[in-house]
Amino acid sequence: MIDALVCSEPGRLELVRRPAPEITPDSALVRPRRVGICGTDYHIYEGKHPFLQYPRVMGHELAVEIVQAPEGSGFAPGEICVVNPYLSCGHCVACRAGKPNCCANISVLGVHQDGGMAGLLSVPPGNLIPAEGLSADQCAAVEFLAIGAHAVRRGGVAKRDRVLVVGIGPIGLGVSLFARLSGAKVAACDRDPERLAVAREIADIDTIVAGDDPLAEIDAHTNGEGFDVVFDATGNPQAMERGFDYVGHGGRYVLVSVVNEPLTFLDPDFHRKEMTLLGSRNATMEDFEHVMAAIRTGAVPVERLITHRTTLADAAADIPRWAADKTGLIKAMIEIGG
Ligand SMILES: [Zn+2]
Ligand SMILES: [Zn+2]
Repeated sequence: MIDALVCSEPGRLELVRRPAPEITPDSALVRPRRVGICGTDYHIYEGKHPFLQYPRVMGHELAVEIVQAPEGSGFAPGEICVVNPYLSCGHCVACRAGKPNCCANISVLGVHQDGGMAGLLSVPPGNLIPAEGLSADQCAAVEFLAIGAHAVRRGGVAKRDRVLVVGIGPIGLGVSLFARLSGAKVAACDRDPERLAVAREIADIDTIVAGDDPLAEIDAHTNGEGFDVVFDATGNPQAMERGFDYVGHGGRYVLVSVVNEPLTFLDPDFHRKEMTLLGSRNATMEDFEHVMAAIRTGAVPVERLITHRTTLADAAADIPRWAADKTGLIKAMIEIGG
């Protein structure tokens, strides 16, 4: 039997004892050691996630320890790994094109199936990446940073680019960090001046746009030219629509956040600028490995991103508290077994 933190219905989290996952010949049994808590998890808890089926064990930002792995998989018991939580089918059009991150039949651990807020978890070995020197904390931060790294790759950010990141939560911070590592100049826009101040320090952002009239500030900052690449990480449909105005002629607009409603834009502006509009979803193994390499060089201050800590038992009370009040919160981490 294992402990599992179950979200039985929106607004209800409870620690339950339940049977350990079954061991199958082609899956690895792992013990979650750190579980990052993400915006998606708060949405699942609050019942704001579209199409989610309850009960659900959340947890997709995972550092795990191998308990038992299939023979020939190369993993040894006790080894710490990062989990790529995007389980893909391997045969759909996206998988065939090397894009398992947008697999037509994707199943995300902790979202579409039970995830890592539990004593044990079963994972395909192909979704495990050895830590190779990264700490458990660092491993658990890789997934949300990989979403930012993937978006930066989608946006084709190059050295000479002027980049704007709108919405500077954990995902926006990841985008900013990896855009900076690509050599671009990065500006950030957010309504919360405190978040901007922290982001400026952590992600080495050179301009912040905080006023009520971002467009005027952006025009002033770019001589009216707009940005080469704009990333939206707001989760706010009005902000996503306004972002079209921040993109310069020939520029790219990358939508990282997703909302459950239509967005509109003015086609003459879109065409006049010959704008490129890109969606960015999840991340691939390449992005995970890119993030892990960047952490190893010391370029990503993971310890500064982890602001809150809890345990599996205390998370039942802490997650509702943090869902309601995120003051000073960047990333909260559940620690399991030291
Ligand atoms: Zn997440
Ligand atoms: Zn697929």
